[in-house]
Amino acid sequence: MEAARLLAEARDVTLLSHINPDADTLGSALAVGLVLHRRGARVRVSFAEPDVVPESLLSLDVAGLLVRPDEVPDEAELVVVMDTGSLQRLGKLADRVPKAKKGAVVIDHHVSNTRYGTVHVIDDRAEATALVALRVLDEMKAEIDEPVARCLYAGIVTDTRGFRNAGPEVHRIAARLLEAGVDAEGVTRPLMDEHPFGYLKMLSHVLGRAELDRNAAKGLGLVHATVTVDDAQGLRSEEVESVVDIVRSAEEAEVAAVFKELRPQYWSVSLRAVSEVDVRRVAQRLGGGGHRLAAGFTFEGTAERLLAELKEALES
Ligand code: AMP
Ligand code: MN
Ligand code: MN
Repeated sequence: MEAARLLAEARDVTLLSHINPDADTLGSALAVGLVLHRRGARVRVSFAEPDVVPESLLSLDVAGLLVRPDEVPDEAELVVVMDTGSLQRLGKLADRVPKAKKGAVVIDHHVSNTRYGTVHVIDDRAEATALVALRVLDEMKAEIDEPVARCLYAGIVTDTRGFRNAGPEVHRIAARLLEAGVDAEGVTRPLMDEHPFGYLKMLSHVLGRAELDRNAAKGLGLVHATVTVDDAQGLRSEEVESVVDIVRSAEEAEVAAVFKELRPQYWSVSLRAVSEVDVRRVAQRLGGGGHRLAAGFTFEGTAERLLAELKEALES
């Protein structure tokens, strides 16, 4: 595998995660980064936005590999991009990819990956990028010990929503990671099940305003909720990002949408579907992307306009 060879030979590696990093993109980058760091390479892991590392992901960085985006060299040696379907998803770090002196390896599981690197390891059937990253590490004959396994487990458990959509092979891999010493509950609880008390108050406001439109999405139903800047005040991105996991439980709706106000008139939208609607196509029509049952896009304008455009996209 070309990617494994490039990584094994590299002396200086920059691993990049997508903006608003989740456990899959950062876990994959930190797992591979840790292996290369231990083999003596100079390694840095970064992402463009927000300014701070999500608190729930900080503990994955056992070797202190994370650096701020302005510390990423303009012309890096080898760049590795994790879990990122298109260059825009790297934000202001996107220009590091074409400028990388030894090229850019893209490791991903997005169907829509635009193949913007020089070497691609993309499996759109993989439930998480962490699984694709593990294949590269196995090819390199890397030792998967507990800190590396923990990073991979974090990506897998979150992208499969607690193994709900994981097939037998993923369970076998999970078993291997647990055998390496991963504490499943210890890793999962901060990522998926834990929030400050203020989260409950925020939910009561946000869910109190949620709406169900049974006729939307060609009659399959849409449930939607809005998280304003005010609602999110004092809370972490983890709290805002997890609202969609609750909104999507409305059984009358095939599609769930959460409109997250980043600043006045500027929204990041999370879309989820149960089984029938391909929300990636819906998101792509609105300039975003993602997976068939979990996708997103950004939108500039009023909440009313956003809802109208989303409903229209759900009809076509
Ligand atoms: P989220 O709702 O933010 O958890 O995103 C769900 C999935 O949609 C992510 O895994 C991404 O693949 C994709 N996604 C979210 N926002 C965007 C965006 N603005 N552009 C492209 N893809 C996105
Ligand atoms: Mn991701
Ligand atoms: Mn992923």
